[in-house]
Amino acid sequence: MSLTLDERGVFLACPACGQKNRVPFGRTARCGRCHATLPDPSEPIEVSSSAAFQALIESSPLPVVVDFWAEWCGPCRMVAPELVKVAAAHAGEWLIVKVDTEALPDLAQRFQIRSIPTMAVFRGGREAGRTAGARPAAQIAEFVQQVAG
Ligand SMILES: [Zn+2]
Repeated sequence: MSLTLDERGVFLACPACGQKNRVPFGRTARCGRCHATLPDPSEPIEVSSSAAFQALIESSPLPVVVDFWAEWCGPCRMVAPELVKVAAAHAGEWLIVKVDTEALPDLAQRFQIRSIPTMAVFRGGREAGRTAGARPAAQIAEFVQQVAG
């Protein structure tokens, strides 16, 4: 199970009342219904469109870690649970998002993704670095720390 987003933020269910809230990227917010503080996203977030991706990387105050993947790719399936661990361990520090290169081929082309999985880190709207190939959560986190500073 993953979280979802659109051009204006990440959709998070309120842990207190279940209300679905849209939270601007990288911000903390309170539930619109019961005013409980919403948790930072702690799971990978599925990117639904190129427009949402663009809005995300331009407006997120947090480094955005992007997993370019595809359903048919075996190593991508190995990376998926590792990214779940990274997202949980670094909630509030980084946003972990997934781009399905089959569903969003324009993004794969724009960023010249030649092999998958490729993990890229974006800061302030720009790509800060990338790495290709599957690896365990600890190594992914180490890579992101190096690139994101
Ligand atoms: Zn609530």
